[in-house]
Amino acid sequence: MGYLRGDKNDDYSDYGLTLETADETSLYTSKALRAERGILVAFTTREGGYSRTPYDSLNLALHVGDDHAVVIQNREALCVLLGLDASRMTCAEQVHENKVAVVNESIAGSGAVSLGGAVRGADALVTNLEAVPLALFFADCVPVVIVEPRHRIIGMAHAGWRGVHADIVENTINRMVEDRAVEPADMIAFIGPSIGGCCYRVGEDLIKKFAEKFSDKEHRLHGGKLDLPALVYYQLEKAGIERARIFSCEDSCTSCRNELFFSYRGDGGVTGRQAAIAAVLPLKDFDPTSDLR
Ligand SMILES: [Zn+2]
Repeated sequence: MGYLRGDKNDDYSDYGLTLETADETSLYTSKALRAERGILVAFTTREGGYSRTPYDSLNLALHVGDDHAVVIQNREALCVLLGLDASRMTCAEQVHENKVAVVNESIAGSGAVSLGGAVRGADALVTNLEAVPLALFFADCVPVVIVEPRHRIIGMAHAGWRGVHADIVENTINRMVEDRAVEPADMIAFIGPSIGGCCYRVGEDLIKKFAEKFSDKEHRLHGGKLDLPALVYYQLEKAGIERARIFSCEDSCTSCRNELFFSYRGDGGVTGRQAAIAAVLPLKDFDPTSDLR
């Protein structure tokens, strides 16, 4: 416990995400969160791994048509790099709905090695278990990680337009509050790489649907484009997380930066998936002097 900052000091101003590269693998991570709280948050990119075109090269998802063995190899290599146990990685089915699953011991490791094993019907996961990495997969949808650093509770959501519209972010926060009696005011949040308002052109019907729900946020809906990360930011704030405690990745529109990120739109549909990974690290193995792991 000696490595953790005292509870009195809740200054998270240096907890922002930076792009780090190790073993040819690039990912965004909060080094201070790991060093000071023993909690890992990472958003991977295409860089790293062994997958071939069109999944080149760090594809971490099993449902996209890539070679199963290579995806498992990619997951294992990433977990070695991050100091995680790949067999405990817990994944959700990701059905573009708004259900949140609490990961307890009985479902830890679900989906680590098989697509069918992922937590059924869930688009968000919450846990306080140590050494159980949560992982969701993305190629344009918005990855959101929420952390309550004092009680070491983590939540992660898959927020595409359906999830944003159906309040997946708020549901995830509520589930953390209900399950563990924690407060949004003590949480911090991370928004990973996703398609930005610059590139996400949608139909008239969808613009109308969002204009109705976010009637006070119309400036984010102009020009036939939807700014999902901005709406997620708004939802996090509305749920009670302070603006100064919400961190996103610089310059990370998946479609604009298609060389660095998988983008469903940018790649014309057939492509790999980057991952959001979060884990409560065991305090007993906690090494504050290490870099990525
Ligand atoms: Zn863009």
